[in-house]
Amino acid sequence: MRLILLGPPGAGKGTQAKLLIEHYGIPQLSTGDMLRAAVAAETPTGLKAKAIMEAGKLVSDDIVNEIVSDRLDEPDCKEGFILDGYPRTLEQADTLTTVLEQKGIELDYVVQLDVDDEQLIERVSGRYTCGNCGEGYHDIFKRPAVENVCDQCGSSDFKRRADDNAETMRTRLLTYYKSTSPLTGYYYAMKNLRLVDGMGDIPEIYANIRKTLDEGN
Ligand code: AMP
Repeated sequence: MRLILLGPPGAGKGTQAKLLIEHYGIPQLSTGDMLRAAVAAETPTGLKAKAIMEAGKLVSDDIVNEIVSDRLDEPDCKEGFILDGYPRTLEQADTLTTVLEQKGIELDYVVQLDVDDEQLIERVSGRYTCGNCGEGYHDIFKRPAVENVCDQCGSSDFKRRADDNAETMRTRLLTYYKSTSPLTGYYYAMKNLRLVDGMGDIPEIYANIRKTLDEGN
């Protein structure tokens, strides 16, 4: 399965990607995660990206295009992959189309998760992850069974993303509508696009995606 997950910040791309990679046994290629790792490691790319990410703006196309093209050459992408958070501009989408052609890779689907703006802000402002194992939580929708203890690994080291606040979220949404939403038309024209209802709880949305992928329509 070679898949792009499209949708605004907070649509659930990362959460759903984690469930899908388990089912299909393929890697999740999240440019956001890769950039956050570069920021934490203070690499030259990370140093360039840090302030841009904290402001909710987009890192340059050249940087992310190169990261993804290199990542697609790793052996674990042979049987498939899920792109999460990439492409985010028409320029990135065009580059990806060329790169995939050059590598002889065919995309199966582009799944766009549709979620109301109000719900996006609510989801993003309450989310946090376990700093040890990466399990995702939410102040309202998904709390750990024991307060302050990760269900998966027992750690109490929880993290919130620097850009998950109401102020930055406004910029991220604006950036999405301005730069990323034109990709809906782009992939519709390429006949890969599948629109999936992203409202509801995590298992419901996962079931919606699986139904779309399994039925292929
Ligand atoms: P995400 O984890 O996908 O929400 O991404 C977090 C931040 O990383 C974004 O707000 C951008 O600043 C940056 N970023 C992630 N993916 C891309 C991309 N494809 N193009 C440009 N910037 C990106």
